[in-house]
Amino acid sequence: LKDEVDKMERLSLVGQMAASITHEIRNPMAVIRGFIQLLNERSPNEHHSYFHIILQELDRANNIINDFLSLAQNRIVEKHTRKLNEVLEDLMPLISADANMRGQMIEVRIEEDIQPLDLNVKEIKQLMLNLVRNGMEAMTDKGVLRIELANVDDGVQLRVRDNGIGIPPEKLERLFEPFFTTKTNGTGLGLALCLSIVERHNGKIQVESKIGEGTSFIVSFNRPKAGMLGAGA
Ligand code: ADP
Ligand code: MG
Repeated sequence: LKDEVDKMERLSLVGQMAASITHEIRNPMAVIRGFIQLLNERSPNEHHSYFHIILQELDRANNIINDFLSLAQNRIVEKHTRKLNEVLEDLMPLISADANMRGQMIEVRIEEDIQPLDLNVKEIKQLMLNLVRNGMEAMTDKGVLRIELANVDDGVQLRVRDNGIGIPPEKLERLFEPFFTTKTNGTGLGLALCLSIVERHNGKIQVESKIGEGTSFIVSFNRPKAGMLGAGA
């Protein structure tokens, strides 16, 4: 037990340091971004492509900081009894707007009476958005993204399926590594974050993929054991 406590204290110290360092980095970066934007507006046209690159890279660094912060604050999260379909429904306006902008289609299939689980809603939203965005980014403007929720024997299963480019077998095992990315503007932290969120919910995450056909991410959440929910036996 003492080892566990030591580990928790170390983790929370790292989390706190990450929070203050990222805060201290984000502020000067916001100032830099502001002045670059100003210079961009006042400079001759031939420099605009440079400013564009600088702004893009600043935004990329900022994304890394945000994702890293979520990953480093790997603390015990508060959970409440909620249904995954309600969390997904909250996100639909955002997801639909994203799909619209890309000219892609979203199909949602939710089974009746999805059973409630112990969830940290903020984290589950982050998980869903990361999987959905990856799916969208893997597809052209003719893509169809399907989101499914179904009850299974011992819990609930979330599937996010795209008909995009697919993932080559040799890359499959590296997907969840922090900083593994194949995108020019990727952070490679999205799936690492997804994995840590799923682990904090005692769930499992699996991938099925075929080159040129598409990819499914399958997250299995376990129903809380009898007696673990609220008071009682
Ligand atoms: P990022 O999206 O910033 O690259 P992620 O951790 O979210 O980082 O994903 C890591 C990598 O996994 C991506 O760069 C991509 O190569 C691959 N990947 C993830 N989701 C999909 C998907 N739905 N289809 C194809 N490749 C994917
Ligand atoms: Mg991603």
